[in-house]
Order: sequence, then C-alpha cells, then structure tokens
Amino acid sequence: MAGRNGPDNLTIASIVAAVILNFIFMSLELLIGEIVFTALMLYAMFRMLSRNIVKRRAENARFMEFFSPIKEWFGQKIIQIKSSKTHKFFKCPGCKNTLRVPRGKGKVHITCPKCGQRFDGKT
Ligand SMILES: [Zn+2]
Repeated sequence: MAGRNGPDNLTIASIVAAVILNFIFMSLELLIGEIVFTALMLYAMFRMLSRNIVKRRAENARFMEFFSPIKEWFGQKIIQIKSSKTHKFFKCPGCKNTLRVPRGKGKVHITCPKCGQRFDGKT
C-alpha cells in the first residue's frame, strides 16, 4: 500500500455500514440493498487505493470529529453495564460528569472531583 491511503476509520466504517445495510435490505427483500452495498464497497476501495492522502486524511478527520463522541458514549455505557453489579453511577448536577460509586454503602455524600459540587446519593 505504498503511496496509498490504506484502510482508515472512515473506510472501515463504510465497509461496516455496507454489511449492516445489506443485511437490513436483504431481510426486507429490497433490491436497492445490492446497489447500496456495491456503492459503499467501491467507496471503501477508492479510499484505500487513493493516492491523494492529504484529502483522504482530512475527510477521515472530519468523520472522526463527528464519530468520536458517539464512540465514547457507547464505551461509557459498556463500562457502566459491565460494572453495574459492583458500582452505581451518578450524574453530577453541576457539570453533568458521570461519577462511579461502589454499591452497598447506603447513603453517601458525593463530591464531584471535576467541579467540587456536593450531593447525596443512595448506593
Ligand atoms: Zn461536577
């Protein structure tokens, strides 16, 4: 892949979207699925083989600007679900920061480490 853009986040997202949309369209028996799948796969190929690396990197950066908060939100939710048996999560009323407190401590006074806001919570 010397001199080519290669696979980046936007390329991988295009391939994942192609597979997911193809699956949805196939289950709905819509023929447009093949067109969408082919278009997205061709776009992914074009991105990987493109020699205009500067332009592809700028596109990828714009995509990540939009996608990063979504990815972060899902990552946080997964952590919350995984540790929901041992910890309870509170949202700071001051700065909306998510705080993690161990379960089974009864009523607790919580101090937000980010903004210093104090509030009560039941674990
Ligand atoms: Zn706070």
